[in-house]
Amino acid sequence: MVYNTEGIVLRTRNMGEADKVVTLYTRDHGKVSAAARGARRPRSRLLGPTQVFTHGRYMLFKGRQLDTLSQGEIIHSYQKLREDLDDMAAAMYLTELMDLFLEDGEPSPDLFQLLQMTLQLGSAGRFPLALRIFELRLMALLGYEPQLQQCLSCGSQVMDAVAFSAEGGVVCENCRSQVSRIRSIGKGTYEWMKRLSQWDLERAAILHPSPAVLQEIQTVMAEYIAFRLDRPLKSLQFLQSLEPQP
Ligand SMILES: [Zn+2]
Repeated sequence: MVYNTEGIVLRTRNMGEADKVVTLYTRDHGKVSAAARGARRPRSRLLGPTQVFTHGRYMLFKGRQLDTLSQGEIIHSYQKLREDLDDMAAAMYLTELMDLFLEDGEPSPDLFQLLQMTLQLGSAGRFPLALRIFELRLMALLGYEPQLQQCLSCGSQVMDAVAFSAEGGVVCENCRSQVSRIRSIGKGTYEWMKRLSQWDLERAAILHPSPAVLQEIQTVMAEYIAFRLDRPLKSLQFLQSLEPQP
């Protein structure tokens, strides 16, 4: 069976002499891995469309064990993301998150749009904001939305949260001592987390939270994601190693 779909290359690995196995997140079929025969040959027409982070249109054949990617047409090559070390580390982090959290299949147009927007915003030099929006919304789309309105422990309405638990939400002043994995967050950071999770994507993308706010969100979301995954991310450690230490 042949199928055509738009997709973004999450990762690739070499197979044999000149082939590649490409893992795509596709708009219509979710996560798919497919063999791209000859894609590593310099003159292959699949060379460009199968580079990591590429957004393209693909033609695939369903296989018994592995699908085959037979044609590809580039929509956005995102070449800059493969050339700049900081950009590459950031893009690797988000594709690793997609790859770890998603099983094969599981199409989600919203998630596809989020991934596409994050790469676009990131390649425009705004990865620090784009990654924070991505983390918050990825977790929500997967059904792990961090609880930002009610206290994680007692359920009371939280007005100005000053604490976030890596178990997945804000905690009120009264419950603070009874909940584990707590980290303090500024009132401004709390407001920004709500905005970045709720506002529509185009609107959120033009916002400019301060670097200190983005840093705080990064810290609590990294702890929350690690709690959900039950393991640290290699690409996150690499990304953090590139960042200036405060
Ligand atoms: Zn409480």
